[in-house]
Amino acid sequence: MAQEEMQFQAEVSRLLDIVAHSLYSEKEIFLRELISNASDACDRLRYAALTQPELVKEDSGFAVRLKTDAAAKTLTILDNGIGMNREDLIENLGTIARSGTAAFVQQLESKQDGANLIGQFGVGFYSAYMVAEKVEVSTRKAGEGEGWCWSSDGQGAFTIAEDLEAPARGTRITLHLRKGEEEFLDAMRLRQIVSTYSDHIAIPVVLESRKEDEPDETLNAASALWTRPKSEITEEQYKEFYHHVGHTFDDPWLRLHFKAEGMLEYTGLLFVPSSKPFDLFHPDRKTGIRLYVKRVFITDDCSELVPSYLRFLRGIVDTEDLPLNISRELLQNNPRLAKIRTALCKRVLGELKKKAEKAPEEYATFWETFGAVLKEGLYEDQAQRETLLELARFRSTQGEGLVSLADYLGRMKPGQEVIYTITGDDPEALARSPQLEGFAAKGVEVLLLSDPVDDFWLTSVPDYQGKAFKSVTRGGADLDKIAKPEGEDEEKESESDAPSPSLDALIAFVKLTLKDAVKDVRSSARLTSSPVCLVAHEGDLDMHLERLLKQQRQLDHSSARILEINPNHALIKALSDKVGDDGAGSLLEDAAWLLLDQARIIEGEPLPDAAAFSRRLSALVEKGLAG
Ligand code: ADP
Ligand code: MG
Repeated sequence: MAQEEMQFQAEVSRLLDIVAHSLYSEKEIFLRELISNASDACDRLRYAALTQPELVKEDSGFAVRLKTDAAAKTLTILDNGIGMNREDLIENLGTIARSGTAAFVQQLESKQDGANLIGQFGVGFYSAYMVAEKVEVSTRKAGEGEGWCWSSDGQGAFTIAEDLEAPARGTRITLHLRKGEEEFLDAMRLRQIVSTYSDHIAIPVVLESRKEDEPDETLNAASALWTRPKSEITEEQYKEFYHHVGHTFDDPWLRLHFKAEGMLEYTGLLFVPSSKPFDLFHPDRKTGIRLYVKRVFITDDCSELVPSYLRFLRGIVDTEDLPLNISRELLQNNPRLAKIRTALCKRVLGELKKKAEKAPEEYATFWETFGAVLKEGLYEDQAQRETLLELARFRSTQGEGLVSLADYLGRMKPGQEVIYTITGDDPEALARSPQLEGFAAKGVEVLLLSDPVDDFWLTSVPDYQGKAFKSVTRGGADLDKIAKPEGEDEEKESESDAPSPSLDALIAFVKLTLKDAVKDVRSSARLTSSPVCLVAHEGDLDMHLERLLKQQRQLDHSSARILEINPNHALIKALSDKVGDDGAGSLLEDAAWLLLDQARIIEGEPLPDAAAFSRRLSALVEKGLAG
């Protein structure tokens, strides 16, 4: 019979190479992966049979069967699930289909710690090559005539041929064990592995007996985990269930197992992961929650079940309230599902709130991992906005840790009316922004926001408990309304507040020189140690937001900035004294441009004419050296 040889996708070859040579100590997880796939295949067929009952007519009891052959040194995993045709085999076992996996392979290669990452991430079907030197997959898709055999030693290529011996329906995977892996032929060992990792699987996992007179043995509890009483479920079982449904292999950070009764009846078993999934920001990631109706798996890609700002959730929802034969299309805009979604959302946010109150440090770790995603809800979900604002944590100019808005409100100064923020790419650089100086001098706290999403929610969230958000880089600083910290030297302040005529002259001169390059030049209340800074006009976009939009090509112009100068800075004073001097004109002109350019550099704005900047700077330093 014609046999075709095909190459693995390059990423698969690399992954296989890493898997085969990995020193990962828990090799037995390959069995968890293969049983998990077999169980998924049965779930999918059961779903298809809702509308095409003929698919399961001959054999409606689902099971995974394990069989060993000591002489041949093979372990076989057989399921009567959906099976695969030729195209499925090439797509599923020749490429890496999951969106996050390509990124994972890159990580594996760059870090030397591949073994550890395999444990955290799971490599699915390919983990079979940790224990097998050759794998054969013999399979027939439910409802189709031809069976196929896929075979590979995991070294760059696989073969596909028609297979007359394929199971009537489903998939038989035969592992030719490597030397030294004989333990996986041992009934005791298999029993132990299945009860550790696969007990939660809802269909029976059966070990076929090797002797005529002995019956086959079911190795797991074979009931859906979420239907069992909580008191009978161990932490380990919960965790393995999470690994199975989440395709993720860290420990869950938070678990919610609940049954809602009344208007709507549904059970939820949801987890918040402890680490970031690789595809958290990938546009074609799937949702992590599987929908079941009366214990029958419906879909693992139901975007209606939770809002996208909770997309890090993993787990299942099983409801009595949807018809079994609901099609995936009908799930869209389904009012019952919408109610479940609202209820789930409330429940999850409620649990997060409890955690934030009871275990603030653990909550802070969660926030570092998923806060940026949760913040998307601030503009996507008006109904939950208040709750989300309470859940939000921020870096601020007050110390190292994260603060809540309630903390912030509690520390507001007399006369302070708004919540001050500054956005940028890097929290460390933000903390050094010149615009913060006057706020620091008055002890006014400023939130340092460095997630790209921050600029977006800030434009759509008007306030928190009546206090508006305001960027310190925009508009006036309104610092004069805020009381000075106690014990501050009042006299010194009032002295510097007095406008000096020479400063006015300097401002007029700089304005005249810079013309359209700036919107305005003015004396600053927000600077104490830097000579200059840029701020945006009250009516313009926030400067950081404008840079972000330009990077994403959503904006093609920039607005001119306001240049603020520090009247108390020695440089500004010295320049003020020079205004009107004979022969100082060209020096002052250069200085005006240099002031603007240095404000741009500190702000992270590009210099429109770097060559001119360099020329002026050299000229000035040269004069300094000569004089
Ligand atoms: P994952 O399970 O995360 O999708 P795997 O590497 O474990 O990734 O499996 C890849 C794909 O191969 C599965 O998504 C599925 O489509 C297919 N597959 C694997 N095992 C089986 C099986 N026993 N029956 C049917 N399809 C299978
Ligand atoms: Mg899998």
